[in-house]
Amino acid sequence: MRGLAAVPSYVVMQPTTLCNLDCAYCYLPFRSADRRMPVAVAEAVAASVNPWAAADRFSVVWHGGEPLAAGREHLGALLAPFAPDVEHHVQTNATLIDDAWCAFFVEHGMRVSVSVDGPRERNGDRVSRAGRPAYDRIVRGVATLRRHGLPFSALAVVSRPEPGLATELYEYFLDLGCDVLGINIEETEGVNTRDNVWDAAEVTAFWAELVAAWRRAPSIHLREVEWSLRYAAAVLDGTADGLLPRRLDPIPTVGYDGSVTVLSPELAGFTDARYGDFSSGNVLAAPLAEILRGAAGTPWVGEFLAGVEACRSTCPYFGFCGGGHAANRYFELGRFDGTETEHCRNSKIRLLEGVLEHARDHESPAA
Ligand code: SF4
Repeated sequence: MRGLAAVPSYVVMQPTTLCNLDCAYCYLPFRSADRRMPVAVAEAVAASVNPWAAADRFSVVWHGGEPLAAGREHLGALLAPFAPDVEHHVQTNATLIDDAWCAFFVEHGMRVSVSVDGPRERNGDRVSRAGRPAYDRIVRGVATLRRHGLPFSALAVVSRPEPGLATELYEYFLDLGCDVLGINIEETEGVNTRDNVWDAAEVTAFWAELVAAWRRAPSIHLREVEWSLRYAAAVLDGTADGLLPRRLDPIPTVGYDGSVTVLSPELAGFTDARYGDFSSGNVLAAPLAEILRGAAGTPWVGEFLAGVEACRSTCPYFGFCGGGHAANRYFELGRFDGTETEHCRNSKIRLLEGVLEHARDHESPAA
């Protein structure tokens, strides 16, 4: 795996910078401002995306801010330029979901992922702009999805891994009814400067406990555990070298104004004296396909690719991780060519160690 692929597997779009919530761990810098994406930006993105979707499966992920805060009419206008075979996903806090939004999701074949951190008492960081808990509004939105029979994914942030939490979360999400679950250990990035340094054994035990909970009722696709098991199986089969893509997926984020930031949505909207605004171009000035062909020449991207090579030559977990996490490197280390971050320790190294710890603890006595 070397360099950036010219064609991504998906594009992240920011229909508005606004979010109606004000979560304590949010990384977004302009979430109180309603800066909406003009339709011309969506048209420009679609001009590159539609041919990609004709050739292969392709997704657009509508991310925010809170994408539903753009309103149905505007989001519908942004979707219109995309060909019918483009798959649409939305990452939402669910608080605005009602019957009309469910009809919208059905009409556009839009797959919904909901951000919720577990039971009510685990959602203390998810609050409205007035500081009021958002939990009741989140579960009302989820109940509306379920009433309409719409499948959904869930994304949970864990701010403090502690014993018992993994089991509690997994059982909660079984009840909630999601079919895919992703667990993110809170990251220090963007405007979130909260610490994410945890005891290695505690984080490893969290992931091991999560695997154990999942194995008792493996009816949810548990993103992190499935990644780890796929890697472990490839190591056992001797095919691990073929698991990482040949080139890094550039995962372009198209900001509300058409600016394109590759590799890390979390960098969009930030500027730095050394790296400028991190963007590799603007779709209103050049086609997305052309911007991506030249993205490896963006100064910080070159430095990041050097960091990936440093990971490859020094880190025993590289075959699993692939050395991503551009924004975590920048926000934790102040540059892109470092290697280990607290994020990769928490979410890659200790994840794999947790899965292995679970396997060791449940080894068959006959083995
Ligand atoms: S786990 Fe960390 S140090 Fe290792 S390859 Fe991944 S990013 Fe690099």
